[in-house]
Amino acid sequence: MPKTQYWQWYVEEFSPTEQHRHAIEEVYFSGTTAFQDVAVVRTSTFGKMLILDGDTQSSQGDERIYHESLVHPALAAVADRSEVLILGGGEGATLREVLRSPDVRRCTMVDIDGDVVSLSRRFLPEWSDGAFDDPRANVIIGDALKYLAEDQGTYGAIISDLTEPLPDSPSHMLFCESVFTAIKQRLQPDGVYVLQASTAGFHTMSLHAKMARSLRKHYKYVVSFYTHVPAFDNDWAFLACSDTENLQELSDERIRAYLASLNGERYFYDEQTHRRLFNLPLYLRRELAKPGDVFH
Ligand code: SAM
Repeated sequence: MPKTQYWQWYVEEFSPTEQHRHAIEEVYFSGTTAFQDVAVVRTSTFGKMLILDGDTQSSQGDERIYHESLVHPALAAVADRSEVLILGGGEGATLREVLRSPDVRRCTMVDIDGDVVSLSRRFLPEWSDGAFDDPRANVIIGDALKYLAEDQGTYGAIISDLTEPLPDSPSHMLFCESVFTAIKQRLQPDGVYVLQASTAGFHTMSLHAKMARSLRKHYKYVVSFYTHVPAFDNDWAFLACSDTENLQELSDERIRAYLASLNGERYFYDEQTHRRLFNLPLYLRRELAKPGDVFH
């Protein structure tokens, strides 16, 4: 007899020949919204988890690794943090990290799927930790594509926390030249655009490299960084784009000064972690240097 009997498994299929299986202890929600399949479950190893269209979005066990990496290097480099824009970010954890900075006067978050936001508020309140009720939070349920076309504001930081741009994902239309141009128009001249930018594993890094190549046309500095995210079972990459700041060279002094200004506890990011995030292995640097496909 096995010591523990699990009745259900969540199987994330990375490719037809690679899977990660998670034992599920509880299913809080499983269904289809107007935009995507959504599941909120509790797994034995990672705790609660949000899954969209069969892809793990974040887990209770390690979401801070992902969200602190996405937000803090960029905000540390930005001179004017008063207005921040998040594209996507349904769980509210990106919002939570942004609002740790008292310099932020308003953080606008635009997510297409109101059901993901309300399910996250209901079942994953640890992710947002009150951020949705912060008076500085301006949460808009709508398509980021439409928002970028109509908005007239400018932002010191724009943070893209969208699902992978796979053909059937609602984020697919946001990875193209016209949207990259629209984002640049909304960014202050010394601002930083940072995005979750797919995987950095040796076997899966081509989409990341394609994003980097596409954005180089728009910014003086397009810098990759990455970390392992255990629930994703892969190295996860990000891109920091700016005309004035090369985030790889951000000084310890500036990072420390920024961190000292933040409210609340951090789990992952500090000036040492920053160096590690921006220290890329040779195979990834080679891939990034290669010519290849771009988004049109
Ligand atoms: N950590 C994530 C990952 O690994 O891919 C991303 C997290 S977050 C849950 C992704 C969010 O992007 C979802 O809540 C989804 O509704 C939102 N999204 C997708 N397409 C969008 C669009 N066109 N406009 C606004 N939000 C969008």
